[in-house]
Amino acid sequence: MFERWSLKFPITLGVVLIVLLVLLTIGWIMLTISSALGGWQHPAMFWTMLALGTSFLVTVLVGVVMYLTLTVRTINLNQRQTNFIDAVTHELKSPIASLKLYLQTLTRQTVSDEERSAFHQYMMEDVQRLDQLINHLLAAARLERYEQVSRTEVVDLNELLGTLAEDVAEQYHVAPGTVRLELQPCSIQAVSDEAVILFRNIIDNAVKYAGDPPQVAIRLYRDTRNRVVIQVEDNGRGIPAALRRHVFGRFVRVGDELVRDRPGTGLGLYLVRTIAQRWRATVRIRDPMGWRQGTMFEVVLPATMVVESRTQSAVQHSDASR
Ligand code: ADP
Repeated sequence: MFERWSLKFPITLGVVLIVLLVLLTIGWIMLTISSALGGWQHPAMFWTMLALGTSFLVTVLVGVVMYLTLTVRTINLNQRQTNFIDAVTHELKSPIASLKLYLQTLTRQTVSDEERSAFHQYMMEDVQRLDQLINHLLAAARLERYEQVSRTEVVDLNELLGTLAEDVAEQYHVAPGTVRLELQPCSIQAVSDEAVILFRNIIDNAVKYAGDPPQVAIRLYRDTRNRVVIQVEDNGRGIPAALRRHVFGRFVRVGDELVRDRPGTGLGLYLVRTIAQRWRATVRIRDPMGWRQGTMFEVVLPATMVVESRTQSAVQHSDASR
């Protein structure tokens, strides 16, 4: 699950640096002794030593910079892992605590039929939250091992985006019409589970981080190069430009874990990026078109993924034959 650094690289780098430092020290001692004894007999020898010494020194400097970069990365990762553990603990504890409370109430007290069905609904939501968290963790582990989840199939994007929008709107109890759809018929060849993970995470974030009142738009169109462009935008607080590249990293969440008001683990966009890379698709964050503030996630799928429907290919064929 956690970033698995290969130990080979830092160990090799360390050994090379030590060897270079020893050679540099020997060279320096030889230079000092020879100048004390009256200088070099062959000037060529002196220049060779100097050139060797300088290149060793430059290599040592480069190695030190690489070590520093590795150290900073490791410290950052440690910090993110701590945040991730805090987030997962919170995500596990709160639905379990809520489930426990409802079950205790149902067993110890007499409740009306209305209350009972409301409790069942809340308990279902808690179970779904746990299910989603576990699915995220499993998907991340599977994708990391480069396991193909299953075979590719024809995925109706239009239908998938519509269903996901409905599910997410229901999950966050947003008013009808909050998620606006501007779609075109489009099918792609992809692993269906991967498509669900990719688009569900983006749509889920859009609704979760949307403003008050929440507004989300999902657009799908084909660009001039026949690629499929999917844009999901919201009217939330947005992601600062400097952080836009970083939020795709593993366990990255903007802000401090202790003061964060939305649930999450920082794995969603990592999954989005990993799947997009597998598909040779691009995903980037832009400013929204519909609102003054917010976020737009734009996914561009390569034309090779598109499955032309019979009617579409017939139209293209008749266009070409004209
Ligand atoms: P999380 O589980 O925290 O939502 P993600 O990997 O999905 O994790 O997102 C990483 C971070 O990027 C989030 O914690 C959030 O700070 C930021 N983010 C993602 N999507 C949006 C959005 N639509 N609007 C504002 N911030 C967002």
